[in-house]
Amino acid sequence: MRIILFGAPGSGKGTQAVVMSEYYKAKKVSLGDILREEVKKNSELGAQVKSYMEKGLLVPDELVSRVIEENIDGGSFILDGYPRNAAQAAVLDSIMKRKKIDYDAFIYLDVNEATLINRLSKRLVCKRCGANYHLINMPPKTNGICDKCSGELIQRKDDTPEVIKKRLEVFVKESKSILDFYQKQGKLIKVDASNERDEVFSRIKKILK
Ligand code: AMP
Repeated sequence: MRIILFGAPGSGKGTQAVVMSEYYKAKKVSLGDILREEVKKNSELGAQVKSYMEKGLLVPDELVSRVIEENIDGGSFILDGYPRNAAQAAVLDSIMKRKKIDYDAFIYLDVNEATLINRLSKRLVCKRCGANYHLINMPPKTNGICDKCSGELIQRKDDTPEVIKKRLEVFVKESKSILDFYQKQGKLIKVDASNERDEVFSRIKKILK
């Protein structure tokens, strides 16, 4: 199974990417996670992308296309967080053509803005393993501690009100051209993703059957 997951920040791409990659035995390629890891390692790429990420801006296309080139191959994958603008959609298309890779679907996780803001402003992530929680809807068993690896739960640096606002603006600006691109390719599948994780996942499973 080869899937491209698309949606606004807070639409649940990362969460669905985890369950989908387990279920379909596919490699999870989450661009945001890869970039955060580079920042943590203080690598050359990490140093180049850090300030964009802190401001909620997209990292320049040429930096992220290299990452995609290295991570996409003929095996199964769930791609989360790429493409995020029309130029990236064209780059992905040419990478796949060159590598002779086809994909099954482009899934748009559709969520209204109020729900997105609520999710992002109350999101907690594990500093160690990256697992996601929500203060109210999906709290950890022990306050501040990850259920999976006992790591410390923190708020992402880009989940502050000003940066959330910026990230949503960027999404609104870029999304139409991407949706048009995949609609034209006949691969666009829109899924109502405003419910909780398992309900959204069973919707996706049903569609992909
Ligand atoms: P995410 O975890 O998907 O919300 O991504 C966090 C941040 O990583 C974004 O706000 C961007 O700064 C950067 N980022 C992730 N994916 C991309 C992409 N496809 N193009 C450019 N920047 C990206």
